[in-house]
Order: sequence, then structure tokens, then C-alpha cells
Amino acid sequence: MTGKVVVLDPGHNGGNASHPSEINRLVPAGRGQTKACNTTGTATNGGYPEHAFTWDVTKRVQAILVAHGVKVVLTRSNDTGVGPCVNERAATGNAAHADAVVSIHADGATATSAHGFHVAYSSPPLNAEQGAPSVQLAKDVRDALVHDGYATSTYIGSDGLSKRSDLGGLNLSTRPSVLVECGNMRNATEAAAMTSAGGRQRYAEAIAAGILSYVG
Ligand SMILES: [Zn+2]
Repeated sequence: MTGKVVVLDPGHNGGNASHPSEINRLVPAGRGQTKACNTTGTATNGGYPEHAFTWDVTKRVQAILVAHGVKVVLTRSNDTGVGPCVNERAATGNAAHADAVVSIHADGATATSAHGFHVAYSSPPLNAEQGAPSVQLAKDVRDALVHDGYATSTYIGSDGLSKRSDLGGLNLSTRPSVLVECGNMRNATEAAAMTSAGGRQRYAEAIAAGILSYVG
């Protein structure tokens, strides 16, 4: 894996909620759209925030990839800052000329019975890397999660994959790029997994396996 570069993008940030003017300002989001710089993200019903989950899982994925010789670049360096904006996150992947860009999130679907993961990719693609390479990356991450026993989403997409035209980070990427929604933080079973260190390690191992399968 030496020479491979992976950009990991942990969703949201710990300082977003207390800096509404910064994170609500509109930025380019691709397809001629503008969107808020960033959002606060969701949380479990018990109050464990998405930004903390994405940061912890990202650090665990990073450790696994680095152990395999991959160079890893993160879009944010801590869980206490503000932003960066979605367009800046995409720019990090582009500037690194990443072999793969993976954004890590968890969802907050209102229906507590809704559960399962999905992997989003830009569609229709705006450049060649958003086409077949991003679809393959999405499938490799999906397959690794399924292999490790994770259920595909009951409420978004199909077979764990979701075509999206409205996600700025994906729209603005010129590299193979996907966004993983690990599950529904409002679902009690998935919230329990997300709030445990062991549960986050399992997510990280599956996501890292998918990335390694793609870049290997
Ligand atoms: Zn999110």
C-alpha cells in the first residue's frame, strides 16, 4: 500500500454548534448550488454527538490504514474546531490527489425503527472520478460492512448504496469519493454500538477493510 493516499473526512466538528454564523454561511456545493458551510450533525437520543462518533471512528480507520503503509490525510485535525466547510473538505481530497476519499457520518432518521448503513456517491457524476471509480469504492466499502455483519439501510437507497446529487463534498470532488452513513443514531441498537469503543472499532475495521480492498 506504500504510495497510496487516502483522505478521511470525519463529518461535522465539535465547535460547530456554538458557531452558527460561521457554519451557516453559504458556500459553493456543486451543480450550481450553494449550501451551508457545515452543520452540527445529529446525536443519539442519549446525547452522544455525531461529530464525536465520526472523529473517533476516523482516528481508528486512520490507524489501520497507516499500519498498512497508506498515507492518510484528515480534513480536520481535532474534534473541537469549527468546520471546515464542505467545499474545503472536498478541496483537501483534491489537493492530496487522493486514491480514495471517504467521509464518515452517522444518520439521525426520525423513525427509531429505521436502521442500517448506506454508502452515498455522486450521481449523476460530474467528472470521470465520480463515475465508475466512486461507484467501485462505494461497493467495496458496502461489501466490507456487509461481510462484517452490518445490515444495509432499511430507509435510504438500495442494497446499501445511495445515489446523491445534493452533497457538496461529493459534488466538488475530483477523486474517487464516497460518504458512509454508518447507521441511525436514533435507533437504540445502533446507538448502543456507536456509543461503545468496541462498537466504533468494529465500524472502523469494516470501513478500513473496504478502503484497503479498493486501493489495494
Ligand atoms: Zn453527518
